[in-house]
Amino acid sequence: MTAPQQTGKTIPLVDLKVQYHNLGSPIDAAISRVLQRCDFILGKDVRLFETEFAAYCEVPHAVGVGSGTDALHLACRALGIGPGDEVIVPAMTFASTAFGVSLTGAWPVLVDVRSEDALIDPARIEDAISSRTRAIIPVHLYGRCADMDAIQSIASRHGLAVIEDAAQAHGATWQGRRAGGLGDIGCFSFYPGKNLGAYGDGGMVTTRRSDIAQRVAMLRNCGSLQKYHHDDIGLNSRLDTVQAAILRVKLKFLDEWNGERRRRAMYYTRALESAGCQCMPAGEGSVWHLYVVRVRGRDRVLSSLQAQGIGAGIHYPFAIHELKAYRALGYGTGEFPVAEQWARRSLSLPLYPELSHDDMDRCIAALKTAVAQVEDAP
Ligand SMILES: *Cc1c(COP(=O)(O)O)cnc(C)c1O
Repeated sequence: MTAPQQTGKTIPLVDLKVQYHNLGSPIDAAISRVLQRCDFILGKDVRLFETEFAAYCEVPHAVGVGSGTDALHLACRALGIGPGDEVIVPAMTFASTAFGVSLTGAWPVLVDVRSEDALIDPARIEDAISSRTRAIIPVHLYGRCADMDAIQSIASRHGLAVIEDAAQAHGATWQGRRAGGLGDIGCFSFYPGKNLGAYGDGGMVTTRRSDIAQRVAMLRNCGSLQKYHHDDIGLNSRLDTVQAAILRVKLKFLDEWNGERRRRAMYYTRALESAGCQCMPAGEGSVWHLYVVRVRGRDRVLSSLQAQGIGAGIHYPFAIHELKAYRALGYGTGEFPVAEQWARRSLSLPLYPELSHDDMDRCIAALKTAVAQVEDAP
């Protein structure tokens, strides 16, 4: 099979440069104000961004932390989860969902996902609950909320906490309510490529519970709320003031950007559903962090796309139990068949708010070509 030749520039999976090009001067000014104040650690912009992000998520409390991974770890710690405990995690997600659990010494217990949208399958959760289970971590993967009604009712029946992994779901809604305020704790990442991204690492824990907000604020700051009074063994995982200043500028555009993502996702779906691609369901409150399709012969389709200058990616090529880091969990191949099928079949097309329609048309044409080539191959 010869891949068609690349014409023109490569279309990236995510384009951070175009956003900086559009917002450069307010961002430069925000950074410069921090440099002049020199309040680098837990400065004014951290406090203001925490207040603004809490209001955005419709919760009373938000605590800025060093990353999404740390947000998940600190959420578990704040609930007192540790060695001997189990936490339920979907088998298809970014590895950090499970790391947040493992870093406390607790054990992630995997549950398979749904075939239609790669989100944790509520029908399989109860089988995974034991006397050691403390919490469930639904992941709003690709920007779409997990079935929070079903998950909440299972959690309350068994006395479990619910920690949302909202790292891909800034602004997503479930029945009109914002992600991050749907469970006991919400965890966000501001990794640069997320819907709301910093210019470095960052994260946030959101909650309605003041006791949890206080514990996260203490644990992220070396276990102290008052200088040199260390109440617990903590991390150094504070949201950087420069990043908070940047995020305050960007938060004002988040809804507009999510709308642009949604319109582009609908455009892709209209064009691709007829071309033999399995697209994600429309999903009312999704913020389309990624545009994921499932195709047969995924690896060959991906190489063809790359040869045609399309920066497609895979999210994610392995289910959690297939990762080397998690061999010790003792799960075998075939144990989470739906997650494994997502890992084998999914690919992500370029998607960002500034993506042009001409570039989308190029992606669509390239994918149709690639799919047809794979079908024709012996
Ligand atoms: C990005 C991401 C994380 C981790 O966030 P970091 O800020 O990179 O540590 C956790 N869970 C999911 C689902 C993610 O997409």
